[in-house]
Amino acid sequence: MSAGCRLFHPRRRQGQRTRQGDRQGHPRSPGQVAEGTPDRLSGPRGARSAATARRSGGRSSWQRDLACLSAGMDDRRIPRRRTPRGALQGTAGGRTIRARSTSVGVGQMAGILYVVATPIGNLADITERARQVLASVAVVAAEDTRHTGQLLAQYGISVPLLALHEHNEVDRADTLRRRLQGGDDVALVSDAGTPLISDPGYRLVSAAVGEGIRIVPIPGACAAITALSAAGLPTDRFVFEGFLPHKGAARRTRLEELAAETRTLVFYESPHRLAETLQDLATKFGADRSTVIARELTKVHESLYRGTAAQLAALATVDANLSRGECVIVVA
Ligand code: SAM
Repeated sequence: MSAGCRLFHPRRRQGQRTRQGDRQGHPRSPGQVAEGTPDRLSGPRGARSAATARRSGGRSSWQRDLACLSAGMDDRRIPRRRTPRGALQGTAGGRTIRARSTSVGVGQMAGILYVVATPIGNLADITERARQVLASVAVVAAEDTRHTGQLLAQYGISVPLLALHEHNEVDRADTLRRRLQGGDDVALVSDAGTPLISDPGYRLVSAAVGEGIRIVPIPGACAAITALSAAGLPTDRFVFEGFLPHKGAARRTRLEELAAETRTLVFYESPHRLAETLQDLATKFGADRSTVIARELTKVHESLYRGTAAQLAALATVDANLSRGECVIVVA
């Protein structure tokens, strides 16, 4: 990616305009953001600097950044224009790139909802961008505020926290939607890894999408992808199944439905169900199915067990270590 495509500027001071924002050009209409496109102001920043620039009609750099990201080219070479109906359009490498703009209400700028991945064990596995976003937002919506408070303290970040978990997500999504509409930037985190991946957040993101609020993902750790990357099983096509049903009969039914799947399967499982699940897997998928248990990823006791479903099921009954800590099951 060219230097012109960088999405955030750690050294930018509060209120400082972006390079694109300084140029003369078509100002972005108040209330409009380019959904799904990068924005010079979308990265870590003083929360007010972006809001200020947006309110003052600072021109969006969406076309250049989108085209840059798509084509990996220098943004200065990309022609751009606004289509008659307000759709956002640019070209790069001879290709036309379009994005939909979303309205958030006349005369009012909504905040941004950042969906921020946090480590799955190793505290060093957080991105610089995540830290800067978490330090800059008005509020962090966290699955467990105590846990996230401790995590943020490790990074020297102090920011208001609001609990958002599976039992209060509907109410909290409404509260946060209103705060976003009022102009507050919000970061959503879960206890570990990427929010919404077998974690809360879907209702909030979906409500925000419905209101035309801009969602910015801040990518990072995810146990499923981390496991896949080291399992040594085919990764060209895979299916993320999340958690299997907890009850034995329902779990076996689901495994029966999946038995003919040819893509690599990824399951999350709790340590105390691991032995049973592996036994069901060997029964329903066949004893010889290539299987990997990725345990305690990124942590001190990280270990990967590779074998057939039957071998790992047998091992789980005799090796207590296998059934300790968090694990991902990958089956080819
Ligand atoms: N949102 C998280 C993510 O992005 O991976 C997943 C949250 S889900 C509630 C928790 C499950 O993820 C665990 O039961 C386990 O299956 C898996 N997991 C999380 N951290 C892990 C780790 N360090 N090693 C292995 N599996 C892990």
